Parts: sequence; C-alpha cells; structure tokens
Amino acid sequence: MASSAPKLIAGNWKMNGVKADLAEVETLVQALGNLAPDCIVAVCPPATLLQQVSAKSGKGTIKTGGQDCHVAEKGAFTGDIGAAMLRDAGASYVIVGHSERRTLHAETDGMVKAKARAALDARLTPIICVGETQRERENGVAVTVVEQQLNGSTPALKAGETMVIAYEPVWAIGTGLVPSLEDIAEMHGAIRDWLGRHVGEAGAQVSILYGGSMKPDNARAILAIDDVDGGLIGGASLKVEEFLSIIRAA
Ligand code: PEP
Repeated sequence: MASSAPKLIAGNWKMNGVKADLAEVETLVQALGNLAPDCIVAVCPPATLLQQVSAKSGKGTIKTGGQDCHVAEKGAFTGDIGAAMLRDAGASYVIVGHSERRTLHAETDGMVKAKARAALDARLTPIICVGETQRERENGVAVTVVEQQLNGSTPALKAGETMVIAYEPVWAIGTGLVPSLEDIAEMHGAIRDWLGRHVGEAGAQVSILYGGSMKPDNARAILAIDDVDGGLIGGASLKVEEFLSIIRAA
C-alpha cells in the first residue's frame, strides 16, 4: 500500500521538565520558525507543563501531546487524566501503550486500545506504541509479536479519524542500542502491510514512527528508510540542539 502519511517528529519528555525548562521550548519554536521543517514537530511534556508548552507553541509551529490518558472521560480516578482534559490543555496527540506503561503499570493491549479510543473520542490523535523485547527479537518472533500488539491495541477508525503507530523495540529505549537498518525496514514494512490489511484506505494516512535511542548521529539513516515516517524521541528530545538536529535530518 502506498503511504501518504505525514512526517512527524515527536519528543517524549517522560517525567522530566519543570517551569525553568520552558525556555528550551521558546528556543525550539524560534529555531523552527527559521527552519520551516518539512515535518510536523510535537512535544509531549509532563502533564504539569502541557498548558504552558501549548501556549508557547508559536501558533502551531509545534504541536503538543500527553504521555498517557485514562479510558474514561471523567470520574473518580484519583491521579489520572482524561483525554478531553489533555485536549483542553492544548494537546493534539497522546502517547498510549508506551513500553514503560505496559511494563511498570501492567497495561494490556486491551487497555491500550481503550485509551486510544478515548483519545479519538476527545479529538486527539493517539500515538500507539508497540515493540518487542530483546528475547523476542533473539527468538525471531519480533514481527509476530508486533502484529499481535497491533491486533490488540488499535481501535477501529471512524471516518475522519487517524492514529500514529510508534515502533519502539523495548530493548532500544534509553539504552543506546538500535536495531539494524534492515530490521527496522522489515518491521516498518510489516506494519505498513498490516495497516493495509486491517485499516484499509485510512491506513495509508497512518504515520509509522521509529523510537528507541534515535540520536543526531543515527537519525538521518533511520529516517531515510521506506515507511519510517518520523520518530518518537525520548532522551534526545530533552536537549534542544539534539532534537533540532533530528528534525533537520527529517
Ligand atoms: C521513548 O521513550 O519513547 C524513547 C524512544 O526513548 P529514547 O529515545 O530515550 O530511547
């Protein structure tokens, strides 16, 4: 299936960032104003900064996103945040099913799918994360595992809705390790085929991001691979020069 998916570079700040770091966002927005990149740039700060980062987004020069949302719209869920609240704070995206949530918060494919549906109902684009463990990669079942996660974690799209898939091998996140370019190409091709089989025409609009130790020195080669429509960047999104260098590579 030929893809017409938009290019997206999204930064996942995880549990990092306080008000003092907002100056970095201003620097980023200013630099992007000059660069006029050929891709969408998004920043997913901690929820405490979402509104402030959104306010600094320079009339849409950057988009913002949440890092997780609850499946329910609202209610007695102490400590949780609903998708409509993220939207209200200026978000366009929300990351769901990040491996840290799947591992540390025991999130299942079913929960991820429900969160993605809640995001879509709140007019957010879910960035749905999938990826194999090191053992699964070594056992030669990486593609099968990711296809199973896609089967379980992606909601049916209604007319006008879209989603983003982030392929993030668990063993590559925050470790400095990355799969070979051939392995990334194989996985992104498999995800694109899966989208063709299960999502149909709307699947061509779904961006497939690579995430896992993407840095300025490997970004250009990874982003040049067919069906890599951008990146989900953790550590390197915390340093504005590194993040900009990845955006330039895109
Ligand atoms: C992530 O956590 O989504 C991620 C890709 O992290 P890093 O870039 O630090 O590996």
